[in-house]
Amino acid sequence: MEIIKSIKKYANTDRIALKCDGEDLSYKELEDFSEAIAAYLLEINNDKTPIIIYGNKDNLIVPCMIGALKSGRAYIPLDVTFPVERVLTVSDEVHPKVIVNLSDKDNEEFNTDIKVINKEDLKKIINDYKGIEITCDKYVKEDENAYILFTSGSTGKPKGVQISSNNLDNFNKWIIDYLKIDDSGMTVMNQVSYSFDVSVIALYGGLINGATLFSLSKETMGNFKELFEQFSNSNINLWISTPSFVGICLNEDSFNENMMKELDSMIVLGEVLSKNLTKEVMGRFPKMRMMNGYGPTEATVAVTAIDVDDEILEDEKSIPIGYAMDGIEIKIVDKDGNEVEDGEKGEIIMIGKSVSKGYFNNPEKTNEVFYTTKDNERAYRAGDIGYRIDGKIYYCGRKDFQIKLNGFRIEIEDIENNLCRVPNVRNAVVLPVYKDEKIAYLQGVVELKEKNDLSNLKNGMLIKKELEKLIQSYMVPRSIKIVEDFPINTNGKIDRKKLMEEM
Ligand code: AMP
Repeated sequence: MEIIKSIKKYANTDRIALKCDGEDLSYKELEDFSEAIAAYLLEINNDKTPIIIYGNKDNLIVPCMIGALKSGRAYIPLDVTFPVERVLTVSDEVHPKVIVNLSDKDNEEFNTDIKVINKEDLKKIINDYKGIEITCDKYVKEDENAYILFTSGSTGKPKGVQISSNNLDNFNKWIIDYLKIDDSGMTVMNQVSYSFDVSVIALYGGLINGATLFSLSKETMGNFKELFEQFSNSNINLWISTPSFVGICLNEDSFNENMMKELDSMIVLGEVLSKNLTKEVMGRFPKMRMMNGYGPTEATVAVTAIDVDDEILEDEKSIPIGYAMDGIEIKIVDKDGNEVEDGEKGEIIMIGKSVSKGYFNNPEKTNEVFYTTKDNERAYRAGDIGYRIDGKIYYCGRKDFQIKLNGFRIEIEDIENNLCRVPNVRNAVVLPVYKDEKIAYLQGVVELKEKNDLSNLKNGMLIKKELEKLIQSYMVPRSIKIVEDFPINTNGKIDRKKLMEEM
């Protein structure tokens, strides 16, 4: 894998690979630590079971990822927003031999037979296995999985999107060229959590080119004074995030080209980029290159992109998601799978080398949305609705209950199914509440199994507390309303529209 070769190359320089909360990790350390971790993984088992890495932005996460790749294993990054219970759900699916725990949770909290390694254990491993060289025949290669990202699944269990070394090669070639990442010693923002695929751009695009990744930890993100102070001293050249994160930063008046003097490019991905937000950003950073990228985890991060300029802002009703990347064909099809005319809406399908082999250990879900074409290429039905004019593609929403909330991908049914696991919940509905055409928050509505003496407010709070143990914090609805019965529509289904009106 290109990333392994580059890390070896830059290990001979004094370049810094990662910076986080005042701590640096050099390329030399990244190389040495990842070799040691790979040696350890190869020693404890010979099968190629993926490893789980649980944590946020600790500098040691990346040596674990690279160590996994060097030992021929995929890694599964799970952010600390995952409660332990959800980590164990993934673990039950994957049966890893090791869970690397770089969170603030104690190893005992996992209550599992699987080996859990915390930071201290990891440091010992790095020391004990120092100097053992890993030969390249052991590395992850070709169609083998490099990483598996677990995204929200409608059944209430997350689904693991498998991304191979080949998928990544194809994506990296394009994105590095498109973003003009070079080996001049760039600083790339590393803000997106590793369990979200947008983080792959900084990780691979950056490390392949000897860049320094400037990581923003959860703690930094929760302290705006600290965040903007770090920005001022960061020398970040390339910004990568969701539009939502840019929106948060724009609340600070001094967030502009004077604060981030070295920033010359920004790409946002993962959700709709509004014209208002774009205008504001371009006003604050008038010399910066601004880009919108689009794609699902299932097709390796992004498959279309576009440079946004004044002309687009003036001429277009909405900002296009852009043109298909090299090596990917995008089709817009009607209900019968036939391609529609230019300007007509349909489902977006992507075909080519970046498309995943499917969901881990889940042929049923895989076959629902993935297929192989006559020419033996992988294809993915994204569930996104869009249209194309002169090669330029526009996004206009989803055909299912998948949403984006503050940039996070969520299946509404995932929350509902987990709500139904909470004791005393008979049935549950989750409604997205919109403000300015964007989902502002989620509202839960619940029917109880048995009435009790508690107020609705108290019941709602208790249910939320139980739910927090089952799903990521960003998926938990802001509040839970208790109802006696759900309204039913003519099809005998819960009438979501009516419920929404009653909110
Ligand atoms: P994820 O797998 O988390 O990257 O989410 C993929 C989904 O996010 C896509 O299928 C779209 O629904 C949405 N999405 C990603 N990028 C964009 C974009 N630039 N504009 C609108 N929606 C987007």
